[in-house]
Amino acid sequence: MASSCNAHDFLFCSMCGTLLSLNSLKHAICPLCGFKRDVKEIEGKETSYTITAEDIRRELNIEPFVQLGRIPAAADRVQRAVVNEACPQCHHPQLEYYTRQLRSADEGQTVFYECPKCKHKFSVNT
Ligand SMILES: [Zn+2]
Ligand SMILES: [Zn+2]
Repeated sequence: MASSCNAHDFLFCSMCGTLLSLNSLKHAICPLCGFKRDVKEIEGKETSYTITAEDIRRELNIEPFVQLGRIPAAADRVQRAVVNEACPQCHHPQLEYYTRQLRSADEGQTVFYECPKCKHKFSVNT
């Protein structure tokens, strides 16, 4: 047996060597002989906090406090299409347009037009 104690040595029963069961945040108990160890004793050991905290969570089935952040959606890019309509301002023959549903579905949608030449913008409710 190694004489140096690392964090994991404290997770095993010093009486019989069985893996201690963490059934509360305060005590680790040997399921075999009933040996009890204060969890604080385990946490107090060098470098043990992280390991112990993980072990406690695993034993107690506590979800890690780290929540996986939502994967940021790609910037809401508006797909533009081109329509063969003349710009009311400069009479350029094509306009870029995109639609956007406003509020509820039964309120129809708004079509936004933008002239690629003079940058004139206007919208039409459908
Ligand atoms: Zn034991
Ligand atoms: Zn124009």
